[in-house]
Amino acid sequence: MILGMVGWRGMVGSVLMGRMLEENDFACVDKTIFFSTSAAGSKAPEVRGADPVLADAMSVDALAACDVIISCQGGDYTKAMHPKLRESGWKGYWIDAASALRMQDDAVIVLDPVNRAVIDKSLKEGVLDYIGGNCTVSLMLMAMDGLIKADLVEWVSSMTYQAASGAGAQNMRELLAQMGYLNAAVSDELSDPRSAILDIDRKVTDALHAPDFPKAAFGQPLAGSLIAWIDKDLGNGQSREEWKGGAEANKILGLPAMGNPGSLIVEGLCVRVGAMRCHSQALTIKLKKDVSCEEIEDLLDNANEWAYVVPNRKEESMQELSPAKISGTPRIPIGRIRKLAMGPEYISAFTVGDQLLWGAAEPLRRMLRIVCEFKG
Ligand code: NAP
Repeated sequence: MILGMVGWRGMVGSVLMGRMLEENDFACVDKTIFFSTSAAGSKAPEVRGADPVLADAMSVDALAACDVIISCQGGDYTKAMHPKLRESGWKGYWIDAASALRMQDDAVIVLDPVNRAVIDKSLKEGVLDYIGGNCTVSLMLMAMDGLIKADLVEWVSSMTYQAASGAGAQNMRELLAQMGYLNAAVSDELSDPRSAILDIDRKVTDALHAPDFPKAAFGQPLAGSLIAWIDKDLGNGQSREEWKGGAEANKILGLPAMGNPGSLIVEGLCVRVGAMRCHSQALTIKLKKDVSCEEIEDLLDNANEWAYVVPNRKEESMQELSPAKISGTPRIPIGRIRKLAMGPEYISAFTVGDQLLWGAAEPLRRMLRIVCEFKG
């Protein structure tokens, strides 16, 4: 089997490459061809069994030589090349990080610990497009896996605290530039323990509004602030990021579209905060029946290898439900679980996960493994 890698040097692609090398994923194919939209003919990364030269990612013929293509190049690329490839008669597997094809009827959103049955059925039916889900949705479903598998969830409201990385590499850099700008605005005062905190605060507020405050990528201050909208405005009071919650979760789970009988209701507000690459979510969950917290914790803890329960106590919650702690790991802690005053079927929970691992790279590399297994 020949694997084509497109978009391997971008942010998601680099995390994916790192994980594929760690897990020896390239060994499950006979050969790998690395592609580029900007540097065809240059040296390819040194991976055992890979062509030494970068192929042209804009060439349908070159792409069509692959049996599986993984693309982390972005939605514009997918929209430009995927239809041309399919029109040329290409029958290979397309595995993609971009959202462009996610909601198409003939595409499956991959998150195998949660929806392996949907993936297996689709492979048998001849489905060829397998797309990674929205990071926030994937992380929520991984965390809630135990309750969903037990068919206990009537609805969930997710209030998100999303990291800068979800907006791209430039945005991560800008967050740090904003932090540096604010620090520089008050560095004299900070070095003097007697300086008045309200003077520091006033200077910081002035700095946040300064004309040269770095905000080209976000359009707003994120450091020392937050941004209460993510992605496009759908014109009905909902952001596209919020819409993805219900739309993608039901598709991943193989349920009817949200709002139809048998679907899972997913609602919430999506907010950007100054974390680097971990998304956090505060969940309010309405259960279908009253189940004890012990039983809930047991289900969540045992659902998959990565989600685990953090006891709802101060010390453990502060240490473990922390983007700083979880960043760069595939672990998905879920904690702050307790019954709410609204009634015994209502619980709270808080979960954290690295949006570049389970939120982006991990489902893609695992899908390659599943295709390799399926094709024998
Ligand atoms: P990205 O970092 O902008 O990389 C995309 C491409 O840009 C690269 O493959 C590379 O293509 C080109 N590029 C140009 N200058 C570059 C530079 N200095 N360094 C590295 N690459 C450069 O894109 P991304 O953030 O990884 O996102 C890729 C796709 O994944 C998007 O569709 C995104 O929506 C989706 N996604 C993102 C996230 C996330 O958290 N960011 C999560 C899930 C899914 P060439 O080598 O061909 O020039």
